[in-house]
Amino acid sequence: MNRRHSKKREQILEVLKNEQGALSASDVHAKLPTLNLTTVYRNLDVFVYDGEVKKLLLDGKEALYEYQNHPHHHAVCTQCKRVIHFTAPDAKIMKLLGMKDFQVDTLEVTVRGICNHKK
Ligand SMILES: [Zn+2]
Ligand SMILES: [Zn+2]
Repeated sequence: MNRRHSKKREQILEVLKNEQGALSASDVHAKLPTLNLTTVYRNLDVFVYDGEVKKLLLDGKEALYEYQNHPHHHAVCTQCKRVIHFTAPDAKIMKLLGMKDFQVDTLEVTVRGICNHKK
């Protein structure tokens, strides 16, 4: 692995760690304009593959990338795109799903709806 490559990796991971939430590849790119977008995408894919970063499809269109200190779930407003991060006990969710003979690796819930953004 060459040095410049790993420096870029660190920069990208740092941006994700400093963000309290999820970013798209173009958001990351906007914060690191010296890197090209392809490099950003490639590194994000590696983070996802390594399990360091979560890839989320919250609005069903653009992939978002999030560094999660703790695994959690999301509720997204389909109108204003606001994202709410919440935790819920996995055991309880599994019970609700009623899937007994299923070995769970990851459990992610995305709730879609409309928030109270109109005041
Ligand atoms: Zn909203
Ligand atoms: Zn989150």
